[in-house]
Amino acid sequence: MNYDKKKRVVLYVIIGFAVITAVLAGLYAYKMFNSNEYELKKKGYNEKQINTILKLDQDKKTYIFNNEYNPDILKFYNEKYFIMDNVKKYINYKKDNKDTDYSDVVAIVNVGADEKFYTNPVKTDIEKGKLMLVNKFNYLPTDYEIEDLVTMNLQFAFNDKQIKAEAYEYFKEMARAAKDEGLTILANTAYRDNEYQSLLYNNQKNRRGTEYADSVAARPGHSEHETGLAIDVSTMKSGLGGFAETPESTWMKDNAHRFGFILRYPEGKEHLTGFNYEPWHYRYVGLEDAGKINELDITFDEYYAFYIK
Ligand SMILES: [Zn+2]
Repeated sequence: MNYDKKKRVVLYVIIGFAVITAVLAGLYAYKMFNSNEYELKKKGYNEKQINTILKLDQDKKTYIFNNEYNPDILKFYNEKYFIMDNVKKYINYKKDNKDTDYSDVVAIVNVGADEKFYTNPVKTDIEKGKLMLVNKFNYLPTDYEIEDLVTMNLQFAFNDKQIKAEAYEYFKEMARAAKDEGLTILANTAYRDNEYQSLLYNNQKNRRGTEYADSVAARPGHSEHETGLAIDVSTMKSGLGGFAETPESTWMKDNAHRFGFILRYPEGKEHLTGFNYEPWHYRYVGLEDAGKINELDITFDEYYAFYIK
C-alpha cells in the first residue's frame, strides 16, 4: 500500500468509530430519558427505592408511576396485611395521623375505622355463615332469620340461653375440658334477638344519650349476640365484671381456639373492634379459623378484611 491509501484507511476507521460512538451515545441517552429509572428519579425516588420499585408487581408499580413521589407507599407495600384497594386510604390516614405506625394504619383502614364507627354501615354478608362479620360497620338486617338455635342445658348456662347448634357442641366440649382441670365456664349471655338488643340500646339512649349508649351497648343489628355465635362467659360466682381475674379467664385465653372460639374484643384493640376490652365475650368461628386467628394474633375484624372478605 502506498502512503495515501494508508492515510485514507486510517481516516475511514476513525470516521467509523466516531459514527458508532455517536449512535451508541444517542441510544444510551434515548434509553436514559425514556426509561422507568429516569421517570422514577425525576419523581424523586433514590437508587435503592428505584431498585425496589422495579421489582414490584405490576399493579403496585403502576400506582407509583401514576402518582406523586411518596416514599410512604413503599412502607405500606411492605406491610403483611396490605390491601391494594386501600392504598389511597392508607396514605390519607397517615398524612393526618403521622404518629400512627404503618401496621396500625393498615389495620385501621382495613377494618374501616379510618371513619367514625357507625359511618355508612353495610348489611353483612350472611352467606359467610359462622364467619359472618357483625360490628359497627356491618349489621344484620332486622329480617334476618336465624336458624339452628338450640337451648343450652343448665349445666352450661345460667338459665335458658340459646345459641347456634354447632357453636353449642363445641362450647360443651370446651366447658368439659375446663371442668377436667377443675374450672367452671358458664354462659351468661348468648343469643339476643334484634328486638331485645333495641330495648337494651334504647334504654341507655333514652336515659343518657347516644354517646353514652354507644359506649355501653351495640346498636340493634350491630351486636354479635344477634348472630347466635357469641357467648359471654363467667364462672359461677365471678359475674362478667369479675371474670378477668379468674383462672378460667386465663384458661379461655389460652385454650378457646382449640374449640373454635376466639376472644372477640381484646385489650388494646378498641380502636379496631369498636368495643372496649371484654374478657368475657367469645365468638365461635370454627376450629380452622380460630386456630389461624390465634396464631396470627389479630382481631376478627382484621382477619375478616384480609382473609375472608
Ligand atoms: Zn358479649
